[in-house]
Amino acid sequence: MSYLAKNYNRKKISFSRGKGSYLYTTNGTKYLDFVQGIAVNCLGHANSRLIKTIKNQSKKLWHVSNAFEIPEGEKLAKKLCQKTFADYVMFQNSGAEATEASIKVARRYFYSIGKPNKNRILCVKNSFHGRTLAAIYASGSKKMTEGFGPKVPGFDHFVFGNHKSLKKKINKNTAAIMIEPIMGEGGIKVIPDWCLKELRKLCNKKKILLIVDEVQTGVSRSGDFFAFESSKIRPDIVPIAKGIGGGFPIGAVLMNKKVAAGMTPGTHGSTFGGNPLACSIANTVIDIVSSKKFLNNVKRLSKYFLSNLNQLKEKYPEVIKDIRGRGLLIGIQLHQNQAKFIKKLMDHKLLTIRAGENVVRILPPLNVKKNELDQAFKIINKVCSEFK
Ligand SMILES: *Cc1c(COP(=O)(O)O)cnc(C)c1O
Repeated sequence: MSYLAKNYNRKKISFSRGKGSYLYTTNGTKYLDFVQGIAVNCLGHANSRLIKTIKNQSKKLWHVSNAFEIPEGEKLAKKLCQKTFADYVMFQNSGAEATEASIKVARRYFYSIGKPNKNRILCVKNSFHGRTLAAIYASGSKKMTEGFGPKVPGFDHFVFGNHKSLKKKINKNTAAIMIEPIMGEGGIKVIPDWCLKELRKLCNKKKILLIVDEVQTGVSRSGDFFAFESSKIRPDIVPIAKGIGGGFPIGAVLMNKKVAAGMTPGTHGSTFGGNPLACSIANTVIDIVSSKKFLNNVKRLSKYFLSNLNQLKEKYPEVIKDIRGRGLLIGIQLHQNQAKFIKKLMDHKLLTIRAGENVVRILPPLNVKKNELDQAFKIINKVCSEFK
């Protein structure tokens, strides 16, 4: 029997090692891993540069309290600020922690300017911002909140794509709008650039903050360092996590100077957040994935893979409804429930994961090789033909 709580519906398979895009089971069966820990292992498994970093740092220093200065964190924060809109960074350990801390930053900002009643966060109905108590109520999903007691107050919701409802829901107590630039769990739904621009304008007009949750889309997953960059907007607060540690848990909140002013000493903290080991790994990840050359390669691979998948959609219109996504955050929307399709892909040794709206989510490592994309494509093609 298993002593693990039953909160996951796990597939009956386990792996003993991984290398790049591949995972190996205990008995040596090889799988092409296009889940990568759900957009976490951005450089694949057992990346040699990350191994070197973790080896070096683990011999020197793992953890010290945030009561002291942490040079590895200073270095990482500087890199993040120099590459993005941000002026300040606050380290966390996970995505949900980063989204919750973002909510705190937004509320605290209005408190600090003498408007404590501006504390409500407007979110997309059935979005995904994590699984802590506040984050599930931010997501506004019935399924995620059921049975978890009194509602955490302070969240309003609008329907994705319904701009009228969005405008109607903003009131004098609204502090911020929080959105995912590409809804990950919700089915790889991309918010178009023009829409992000309008959203920024709306926030300026209403004097409220814009929080862009880049936990899944960030750190080069979209082909840009952040998914919002192609729209040229500047958000106020951006939580990140998944990809930044390349498989090591670390999250962060990026913020501009204006909102950072509210975060005075003692207003937030995290025991593990931003320790030397986590930060040194993230430093190496950022050095690799944020270069122009690396990003151009992600864009090139994405274009190639998406165009192949779109051809597949033409070939099997009765199976595939839509091809979605940007960069290497890709969704194949099916006409029917995707569970059987994912199982079949797995039978053919390709690992993928579900997302909302019957979507098969495909998340290769960002340094995936072209021939590995070809191999995956062949398997997807085969499963489509079996599904016809
Ligand atoms: C995964 C995810 C989170 C939560 O991250 P955890 O590390 O699981 O807490 C929050 N927001 C988005 C957009 C995510 O994809």
